[in-house]
Amino acid sequence: MFGLCQNGSLPIKINTIKKEIVLTANIIDGKKIAADIRKEIAEEVALLNKKVGVSPALAVVLVGEDPASAVYVRNKKRACEEIGIRSVSHDLSAENSEADLLKLIDSLNNDKEINGILVQLPLPKHISEAKVLEAIRPEKDVDCFHPVNVGLLSLNKAYLKPCTPAGVIELLDRSGIKIEGKDAVIIGRSNIVGKPAIQLLLQRNATVTVCHSKTKDIGEKCKKADIIVAAVGIAEFLKGNMVKEGAVIIDVGINRNAEGKLVGDVAFDEVSKVASYITPVPGGVGPMTIAMLMKNTLTAFKVQRGIKD
Ligand code: NAD
Repeated sequence: MFGLCQNGSLPIKINTIKKEIVLTANIIDGKKIAADIRKEIAEEVALLNKKVGVSPALAVVLVGEDPASAVYVRNKKRACEEIGIRSVSHDLSAENSEADLLKLIDSLNNDKEINGILVQLPLPKHISEAKVLEAIRPEKDVDCFHPVNVGLLSLNKAYLKPCTPAGVIELLDRSGIKIEGKDAVIIGRSNIVGKPAIQLLLQRNATVTVCHSKTKDIGEKCKKADIIVAAVGIAEFLKGNMVKEGAVIIDVGINRNAEGKLVGDVAFDEVSKVASYITPVPGGVGPMTIAMLMKNTLTAFKVQRGIKD
């Protein structure tokens, strides 16, 4: 027997054969949703290019030879290419000083042809990430890490939104999941994911609880949540018995388990039997982060050129 779901996507399967109800969650397909967003952005970029004769440009700065960072940067540049955003690479060796990097940021800040600046983290230890991120002009800060943009976000005035949590909201919206009035639990309070996710969910009128490494009885708090955003960085941290039946689960985590397999912060097999919606890893939040980076680059371009929607 199949139960109908809100948005007509994959149905909830109710197995009544053993006289017990086994829910199988709808899989939120982040790969598909991110592709839809990239397509929408590409269409807008093409239209704007016809109108003003220029396309947005993103400076992508990589310092050092960290292999994971190199992959992230490659994926971001590939997305730019697909969309029609010009990406300008600045690959610096790890031997460069903090002053060298600050000088580069300064020149990118002053380059009218560059709309967004992305500095891939982590940076080598001898370079202060805070100093570098604060050196990026807020209007070109497409990662939304600058204190001015963090402040604007908390005042609900941000036009650039932090990519990963903004991607979480898009996943919920585009899956037809109502946020307003829901009890949301975020696990993790990092500056990149957890804290901005608080603001974005609050702005959508969710009631937000934040759990972190010093929180007591996390399972109890999660068990009451309608929506759980797991951004803890511990493989399969959220178990089936910590989740309320029918809850919506967004898994931000990217971890390797003991067998070296890529897994999220959610024990997918058991949680998907309890939840109504769930994001997979890979293919959930990950692709959304890049899609939202592209969106921010387009927004920065429009704001800098005074182009209204
Ligand atoms: P982080 O390490 O900066 O923060 C982790 C948070 O989890 C901290 O606030 C900490 O208080 C909390 N925490 C740690 N141990 C805990 C415990 N035992 N119980 C409860 N809370 C605990 O991590 P982050 O940068 O926010 O990233 C979190 C995860 O999301 C990582 O796996 C990371 O790789 C992933 N991530 C994915 C994307 C994406 O695009 N999909 C983007 C950013 C981060």
